[in-house]
Amino acid sequence: MLNPLLNAASQNYNPTMTQTNEQLFTESQHYIPGGVNSPVRAFKSVGGTPKFMQRGKGAYLWDAEGKRYIDYIGSWGPMIVGHAHAKVVAALQARAALGTSFGTPTELELELAKAICRLMPSIEQVRLVNSGTEATMSSIRLARGYTQRDVIIKFEGCYHGHVDGLLVKAGSGALTFSQPSSAGVPEQIAGNTLVLPYNDIQAIETAFQKYPEQIAAVILEPIAGNMNLLIPSREFLLRLRELCTQLNTVLIFDEVMTGFRVNLHGAQHLFEITPDLTAIGKVIGGGMPLAAFGGKREIMQLLSPVGPVYQAGTLSGNPMAVTAGLKTLELIQQPLFFETLAQTTKNLCDGLIATAKAAGIAFNAQSVGGMFGFYFAEAIPQTLADIQANDHKRFNQFFHSMLAQGVYLAPSSYEAGFVSAAHGETEITATIDAAKIAFAC
Ligand code: PMP
Repeated sequence: MLNPLLNAASQNYNPTMTQTNEQLFTESQHYIPGGVNSPVRAFKSVGGTPKFMQRGKGAYLWDAEGKRYIDYIGSWGPMIVGHAHAKVVAALQARAALGTSFGTPTELELELAKAICRLMPSIEQVRLVNSGTEATMSSIRLARGYTQRDVIIKFEGCYHGHVDGLLVKAGSGALTFSQPSSAGVPEQIAGNTLVLPYNDIQAIETAFQKYPEQIAAVILEPIAGNMNLLIPSREFLLRLRELCTQLNTVLIFDEVMTGFRVNLHGAQHLFEITPDLTAIGKVIGGGMPLAAFGGKREIMQLLSPVGPVYQAGTLSGNPMAVTAGLKTLELIQQPLFFETLAQTTKNLCDGLIATAKAAGIAFNAQSVGGMFGFYFAEAIPQTLADIQANDHKRFNQFFHSMLAQGVYLAPSSYEAGFVSAAHGETEITATIDAAKIAFAC
């Protein structure tokens, strides 16, 4: 059964492409490994054929067959003002006519750097890069250069991009060094990473007791969005801050997802905790490849060309990406932007909870700013194990029913969802109506 509201709306786009999603996927798999340029797009965990999107506008995406979807992925976070926002598009068009990349400093970069430092006061200096992966990779190199130590701590379930030393899983015994979780990562590199359980104060105490003078950096998502949405306790983050300060370890907040998404100033503002370095991305590039890392001036001053830690990039801070970022930052600073976004996102969660309850399904949901998580479980999760205990089969059924009804959710129960300012009551109501049908499946 299809949601009639969504179905009617899906009629209004005439695609220029002539192939179905299925045909495109088959051919893509011949030329591109797995048919995708990033693994989660392949629908491996939910099964089925990925949709080849052709166009986006506001809260909507249209696939190659002209079917319309309400989008809750938002390109995995960046599209906070909605797809093809008229002001972002106009700024990019004007900028493109003036040249897209020079490989020289520009005034635009200075403008963006100033805006970032103003909005995230823990960032005294910032360097622009092209992806979140670069931002975390360079933060870690910088932390190692600063502390002259090698070991880093990361947490199970947190994702920081495809950096060698971060593609690791916990070692076999308690508190042993890690093993690679991807082929191609040398054991010597994985062996410099300690993986600890997220939101577990005892585990960090023990690690710092065991290795008081070896830990260069602790990196974490201060709100985790890569194992579904998991909000840690403030005590956990506070204790981390204390231990890092006591033992001269660099605390790195990976706010690639949460920065300018949970509010205007990041999770660090929400928890009132100041990291030494922060990695940002996604929203800051407004849908163009742009990310950044920054923090304490004393640490940032070690970067080349001032200091000995090397880091560089041909397209870093290019005028196109910076223009999209600046325009997006301008839009999200408008009065009530985050209040409205947070309310819309909460309305979605409340509606889903009420609908599931009426259907007698074990379900819960929560949101922070424009980010949400929903769980096929009674309680809000506190640990990765809680999320692993979700009813993943039920999620897959729900996902496919919603997709068929024109609601595009992340194709995995280990991902957070994203709402944009272009989502309004119409989209939330249509989504909840679709959920009623999906819960009944
Ligand atoms: N850190 C976090 C928290 C992320 O969510 C991501 C991407 N999902 C990254 C880093 C890596 O960013 P990118 O994909 O731009 O390399």
